[in-house]
Amino acid sequence: MYTTICLICKKEIAIPFSDFRYKDIKYNRGKPFVCDKCSFTIRDETNMTKDINGDTNNIDKILRARS
Ligand SMILES: [Zn+2]
Repeated sequence: MYTTICLICKKEIAIPFSDFRYKDIKYNRGKPFVCDKCSFTIRDETNMTKDINGDTNNIDKILRARS
């Protein structure tokens, strides 16, 4: 189990070994991560179909739009 902080809600999220993002998160420390809940919310808000965790620029835009 590995934990990281969601960029949007700032909550700690536990990533199980079985999660497909586990390796990404473990080996890319500091890489922005958004939890599933926020990910769905943002995709709703922006009509994005792409996984936002794959695109840092989108996360930046979203954070700017929300602040
Ligand atoms: Zn979140």
